[in-house]
Amino acid sequence: MDAKKIKDTRRRLSSEYENLIKSINRSRLAAEEIKLENTEDEGDLAAISHERELLYNLHESDFARLRFIQEAMKAMDRGQYGECVRCGEDINEKRLDAVPWATMCIRCQGETEAEHASSRMMLAGQEAEETDL
Ligand SMILES: [Zn+2]
Repeated sequence: MDAKKIKDTRRRLSSEYENLIKSINRSRLAAEEIKLENTEDEGDLAAISHERELLYNLHESDFARLRFIQEAMKAMDRGQYGECVRCGEDINEKRLDAVPWATMCIRCQGETEAEHASSRMMLAGQEAEETDL
């Protein structure tokens, strides 16, 4: 990848980074507001807990992306941007255009997600067994 492309990508990454920080701060504030609301109404309580769950999930995915962006910028500093952290192959440039914070090639990404999904299922299975006792 040439120097100009790296420079452009770094700019994209840092603006995405700033946007994420802003959005994380916003959802933190929103969560605080929801916490402050005091209601005994069951319908309201259900709506509030649903809303908080949505915010929490949003928060989680923002943090995950933030970590990816930090990783991608570190890789840039090392001159390894665009290399898959898992297998070392070059990540497809089209993929990097669409997802500039990608740290893995599409194949490794797919394999890692499959591994995570199966370990999550195992954990869920264990929890279910424990509650049955
Ligand atoms: Zn790979």
